[in-house]
Amino acid sequence: MSEKLVKVLRQIPVIAIRDSVVFPHTDNILSFGRPKSVLAINNAFQSQRVVAIFTQKDPELLDPKLKDLYEVGTIATIAQMMSSEEDVHALVRGQARIKIQNLVETEPFLMADVIEIEEQKENSPEVDALAKRIVDLFKRAIKLGKQAEIVTVMKVVSGQSTPSELADQVASLLEVSTEERMKFLEEASLLKRLRAVFEALLREVNVLEIERSISSKTQKKFEDQVRRAMLREKKRAIEEELGEEESELDSDEVKMYKRKIKEAKMPKDVEEKAQKELKRLMQMPIQNPESGYIRNYLDWLCDMPWSKESPNNISIKKAASILKKDHYGLEKVKERILEYLAVMKIKKGKKSQDAQPTILCFVGPPGVGKTSIGRSIAKALGRNFVRVSLGGIRDEAEIRGHRRTYVGALPGRIIQGIKNAKTKNPVFMLDEIDKLGVDFRGDPSSALLEALDPEQNKEFSDHYLEVPFDLSKVMFIATGNVAENIIDPLRDRMEIIRFPGYTQNEKQKIAEEFLWPKQLKLHGLEDKKIKLTKEALDEIIERYTKEAGVRELERMLATVCRKIARSVAEKKPYPKKIGLREIRKFLGPRRFSSALAEKKDEVGVVTGLAVTAAGGEILFVEVALMPGKGKLYLTGQLGDVMKESAKAAFSWARSHWREFGLKPDFGSKTDVHIHVPEGAVPKDGPSAGIALTTALISALTGIPVKKEVGMTGEITLRGKVMEIGGVKEKVIAGYRAGLKTIILPKGNKKDMDDVPSEVKKSIKFVFVEDMREVLKLALTKDPFKEIAAGKNRDLSPSVLVA
Ligand code: ADP
Repeated sequence: MSEKLVKVLRQIPVIAIRDSVVFPHTDNILSFGRPKSVLAINNAFQSQRVVAIFTQKDPELLDPKLKDLYEVGTIATIAQMMSSEEDVHALVRGQARIKIQNLVETEPFLMADVIEIEEQKENSPEVDALAKRIVDLFKRAIKLGKQAEIVTVMKVVSGQSTPSELADQVASLLEVSTEERMKFLEEASLLKRLRAVFEALLREVNVLEIERSISSKTQKKFEDQVRRAMLREKKRAIEEELGEEESELDSDEVKMYKRKIKEAKMPKDVEEKAQKELKRLMQMPIQNPESGYIRNYLDWLCDMPWSKESPNNISIKKAASILKKDHYGLEKVKERILEYLAVMKIKKGKKSQDAQPTILCFVGPPGVGKTSIGRSIAKALGRNFVRVSLGGIRDEAEIRGHRRTYVGALPGRIIQGIKNAKTKNPVFMLDEIDKLGVDFRGDPSSALLEALDPEQNKEFSDHYLEVPFDLSKVMFIATGNVAENIIDPLRDRMEIIRFPGYTQNEKQKIAEEFLWPKQLKLHGLEDKKIKLTKEALDEIIERYTKEAGVRELERMLATVCRKIARSVAEKKPYPKKIGLREIRKFLGPRRFSSALAEKKDEVGVVTGLAVTAAGGEILFVEVALMPGKGKLYLTGQLGDVMKESAKAAFSWARSHWREFGLKPDFGSKTDVHIHVPEGAVPKDGPSAGIALTTALISALTGIPVKKEVGMTGEITLRGKVMEIGGVKEKVIAGYRAGLKTIILPKGNKKDMDDVPSEVKKSIKFVFVEDMREVLKLALTKDPFKEIAAGKNRDLSPSVLVA
């Protein structure tokens, strides 16, 4: 430092102060509590009334030594003293900057010789200009609401202070940290000090201006809200003390929630949870975004049917009549459902823990009445009905909900369904259970198992709801298209009831008795006495739909009704009787041709029978041969099992080369292409085995296959025909397609009980054990006799024995 040292003052008591700085040219009221400081100030007051005041670096230090003090301090005179019980207060007037020259005493208090630091006075025009600007700026700060000690403020604004005084006075009033304040004190150059003070003051004024610009209106509103919230809280505390539940201070919303919580009749722990959340909501400022989440949660809690139940009175007789009234046919299904209800009724009386019957699972193609039977069951039991689709669910959270910490979290489908059901014992239909997926997001089936398991579902936990919900009174019914696609552990829990699809006759009956009257009513035509002729209905069923169920049929009937309704509305003439002509007019050209009628007996093409997700179907197996190296080509979206069947068929044909009059090595010189058209539909299973083999032998021998013969059966390498599944569905599909003969494995004879009698009447069923029998029946000529007779066939020379 380059300041000049001028005056030395001897033996001055030194006082350390914390968290503040005393500037020259300012008045300060200081309070002293520490014994050393009290002693020092008293001593000084009684002698020369002069003290050296230094700020200590660490305000926490109780007994600071010389090294703990900032180097620069202020020499001050004591104008007044006052003592209270604990502290001594003094009005001190800062005089000049000082430094300690040498320490004289440390006990009982610090005493030192100090040197005054002379100020470097620059008389530049900048000093005056800065001083003027500081005064103006300071006035502005006061106007903007700056709080400061009044005496010094008066000195500053009066404009009578010299620039040096001004710099110290304003520095003492700035809102800055002790360190910054010390910097002002330590600065010996007046110009530099003025600049620093000016900058700090400018910053402060800026802040004040921004504060002012925050609308005083919102400020007031906010204060008001806080005040009211505080008052409310106080009042509530008083009311709680007095044990009062309702409060007129509650907002309408809070009152509503209190009422809803009460009405929901929740279990005790759930109610406690709800109350806790409500309290949280009440204490939360309206602007808090979380309040929206809490509201949402409370709505869910209040809307769950914790204790709403439909009366549980099962009358088997009534149920039987409702099921009969709502649906045509489906006798076996109805019977099984009635048995199930009877068991439920008996077990209910016993109140045993295992009163839970197994879960029913309706399996069948679309439109066969699975959903509508479910509705009927609910109606018969007098319970509500809900339906939730599980198709494509791959995430456990879809079943069990997302935790509330996620934005936009919701409960899972089970809890959503229950909320929609509005009672805790609805008939709950889980659609498309066969399309439930499993992947990295967790296994939804395990959550579903928990919901379905009578051991666990009394306390089903949903991540969102957080409190358990009792599902034990829910009657779950699952539905799906293909039983084999249902995940094993789920399938084990359920009793599969198959809906095989309808025959032409059944469809007619369903349309006449249910669908047509229903559609007329839906379109407001019930009093118009419009008749649908039998030919028209047959035409729709055969040429406009191709399905196992009746969904498409119902849609077509709806189209007819819509066209009529439009004419009625436009006051145009409309037909009273719907015949073939009207059908053509309303529904356009025929959509399907009779697949079989347009075919002839062909070489290498066989009519097979299969079951797909759409129900029973006929499919054509085609085989083509070409010179090659014994390769087998398979196309048409065939599954692995079906491919293996094809290989078995090829091997069987090769191993019997002699019987069919083939060259022994034909297999290694011929490529075989097997194709099953309608490539978009995936096909699998072993049941096409005999159809594949027949098509192959037909191609190899050149004997055509009878087009009206259908077949299904698995083949072994030794040519044995094995039992298969889905006979009823397949047979009905064959019947629909107009087959005359159906070849089935002997093992499936037992399934014939299920086949409708109209089908049995018009189709000849042949049960076989061996592949040779199949070939004799299906080919237009007996291939074995042909060989015996030495007849040659018109085929490529590489295949046949010359
Ligand atoms: P799914 O659930 O099997 O896909 P739906 O229950 O939706 O089929 O049935 C489709 C339509 O067919 C519904 O209008 C239903 O009432 C009607 N339906 C199906 N089977 C019958 C039946 N046996 N008797 C009367 N209507 C039926």
